[in-house]
Amino acid sequence: MGYRNFPMVPKVVFGSGSFDQLKQILAPQRKDRSPFVFLVDDVFENNTELTDRITLEYNDKLIFVSTIEEPKTTQVDAIVNRIRAEYKQLPSGIIGIGGGSVLDLAKAVSILLTNPGGAADYQGWDLVSKKAVYHVGIPTISGTGAEVSRTCVLTGPEKKLGINSDFTPFDQVILDPDLCIGVPKNQWFYTGMDCFIHCVESLQGTFLNAFSQSYGEKAYDLCVEIFLGDGNTAEESRAKLMMASWHGGMSIAYSQVGVAHALSYGLSYVLGTKHGIGNCIVFNQLEEFYPEGVKLFKQMMAKHQIDLPKGICSQLTEAQMETMIDTALGLVPLWENALGDNWQEVATREKLRELYLKM
Ligand code: NAD
Ligand code: ZN
Repeated sequence: MGYRNFPMVPKVVFGSGSFDQLKQILAPQRKDRSPFVFLVDDVFENNTELTDRITLEYNDKLIFVSTIEEPKTTQVDAIVNRIRAEYKQLPSGIIGIGGGSVLDLAKAVSILLTNPGGAADYQGWDLVSKKAVYHVGIPTISGTGAEVSRTCVLTGPEKKLGINSDFTPFDQVILDPDLCIGVPKNQWFYTGMDCFIHCVESLQGTFLNAFSQSYGEKAYDLCVEIFLGDGNTAEESRAKLMMASWHGGMSIAYSQVGVAHALSYGLSYVLGTKHGIGNCIVFNQLEEFYPEGVKLFKQMMAKHQIDLPKGICSQLTEAQMETMIDTALGLVPLWENALGDNWQEVATREKLRELYLKM
C-alpha cells in the first residue's frame, strides 16, 4: 500500500493565440532532422485558417484523422505502422490537435512507437515499460480532461479501456481557447457536460480526498457559471471551460469517476454511442445517485435547448443488453468509488437493466 505517485504534464502554455508558439516550442525538440507527425481532426481538413498555422519542415507529416468513431486499438496500430513504413528513424514528436478522440490517439501512437506489440496489449494499468516519443496535446474542444490525464481511452477487440501509464501524459500542452471557436453548440454542451459529470462523480465519490476536491470544486463552479450563468462573454466562457476541463481531469486523476461513466461505457461498447452524448443520456436518469448534479444538469439542458435521443436501448436484443450490463459492471473501481464496498447490493443487474431501458 502506498499513495499514488502521479505524473503531471510538465509544460503548458495558456492563452488566446498561443497556438502560434507551436513552431518555437517544437524547434528544440527536433532530433537529427527526424520528423514531427501532426495528427489533426479532419474537421479541420478544409480549414486553412488552422492548417496554415502549422509549419511543416524537413519531412514533417500532417495526418487528418476521422472522429466519426472513437479511437480504436486497430486505428492506433495502423497509424504506427504507417509511420514506421515511411521513416527509418523514430519521429521527433507526435502532435495531437483536436478533441478527446485525437488527443487520446496521439498519446497512444507515441507509446506504441517505442513499445513492442499492438495497442490492445497495453489496455489496462501500468503495462507500458518504455518512455513514449515526445508528444504534444492541443485541444480544440473542452471538457474531457484528456489533455491532462494519465490515460488514453481505446476501444479494443475485447474491451473499451485506457492505456493508463506514467508515460501516457503529454510532455507539452498548448491551451488556446480560440481553437474552440467553431465547435457546434450541441457538441460544446455534450463535451462540456463530460467535465461537469467528472466533477460530480469525483466530488460525490467515496475516494474523494483534498487533492481531488480542490480541483473538482473549482471545475464544478466554473461549469455552473458557464452553463447556467449569464455574466461571461463568449471569449471568457471558452477560456473558463478550457480551465474547467483541466481541473476536472486533475480531480478524477486522483480519485475516480462513477455510475454515469460505468453505464456510458456500456452504451459505447454495444451501440457505439460517443462519450459526451452517452454521458448526458445516462446522467439524465441518475437522480437517485446524484440528485443535486442531475437537477442542475436538467436546468442546463433547458437553458441551452438540448434534446437528447430517447429509447436508445429499446431495440436491444437480450444478448446485447447482457453485454451492456457486463461492460458496465466490469468497471469495478468506478462502482467502488460511487457506492462504496457494498456496491453490488445496489448496482444489481436488474437495476442496470431498468436504468438502461429508461434511456
Ligand atoms: P471528439 O474528440 O470525438 O470530438 C467531438 C466532435 O467535435 C468531432 O466531430 C470533432 O470533429 C468536433 N470538433 C472538435 N473540435 C472542433 C472545433 N474546434 N470545431 C468544430 N468541430 C470540432 O469529442 P470529445 O468529447 O472531446 O472526446 C471524446 C473522446 O475522449 C472519447 O473517445 C473518450 O473516450 C475520450 N475521453 C478521454 C479521456 C481521457 O482522460 N483520456 C477522458 C474523457 C473522454
Ligand atoms: Zn468522461
